[in-house]
Amino acid sequence: MTIVIGFEGSANKIGVGIIKDGVVLSNPRRTYITPPGQGFLPRDTAKHHQACVLDVTSEALDLAGIKPQEIDCIAYTKGPGMGAPLVCVAIVARTLSQLWKKPLLGINHCIGHIEMGRLITGAINPTVLYVSGGNTQVIAYSERRYRIFGETIDIAVGNCLDRFARVLKISNDPSPGFNIEQMAKREAAHRMLATGDCTPEDLCFSLQETVFAMLVETTERAMAHCGSEEVLIVGGVGCNLRLQEMMAAMCEARGAKIFATDERFCIDNGAMIAQAGWEMFRAGHVTALEDSWITQRYRTDEVEVTCGS
Ligand code: MG
Repeated sequence: MTIVIGFEGSANKIGVGIIKDGVVLSNPRRTYITPPGQGFLPRDTAKHHQACVLDVTSEALDLAGIKPQEIDCIAYTKGPGMGAPLVCVAIVARTLSQLWKKPLLGINHCIGHIEMGRLITGAINPTVLYVSGGNTQVIAYSERRYRIFGETIDIAVGNCLDRFARVLKISNDPSPGFNIEQMAKREAAHRMLATGDCTPEDLCFSLQETVFAMLVETTERAMAHCGSEEVLIVGGVGCNLRLQEMMAAMCEARGAKIFATDERFCIDNGAMIAQAGWEMFRAGHVTALEDSWITQRYRTDEVEVTCGS
């Protein structure tokens, strides 16, 4: 039996999750929500995380019914992400590691998303579409690494949606992407009325259809290249039901299977870091205290993926 606690705070969510051998015992999270028209800045986001990280940690332990002594390893997000929020979480992980006398493990955030998606859906060897506020990558596993087959090099799709929402002053609560999705649905319902005017709902609809079509096409090309019959969608934008629907249509046409999760596991959370940590810890990895730094840039294919027995 191996119990891992995971700390995530690379962007505007602070999450702490506890995993025991493939079972999510707890996964509380808080989101830093800014007013419409405003993004989240690193310094303010770090202050938010500092203010609630201890409460979220206590909540994770209480919900799981776990005492610190029972934990085998403390996993934290090493990167990629925003500097100040990452530092905040790494300091908490380092401090608890010394207080509780438990080993540390620095985790690649992107690998956390993939491993959580695999755990929840049971996908075995999928082509992965990882689409979030910080990253948009099409990934497949080959020879001990998750290889990147395609990615946006200008802006992540989630960031594109966030910025679009800021221009239109769409609410950031619970997230800009969620509100764009709801507005796009209203457009789809009203389209038949054909009033002739272009509404914010029209723009939301068009943006989603255009951007998601590009993602589905690129994913299909990677599947054809790899001979893959599974797609796994992870990352915050991955819980968008329209994206899942478009991907499902492509998969159906190819005779492939689609795997996706809901907002609990798609959006940044502590359990995904705990799960990647669980796998790495079981494979014999730990991070020495003096190596427990963070990095804003940390690519998915930098990590050697090894399997424990
Ligand atoms: Mg993420």
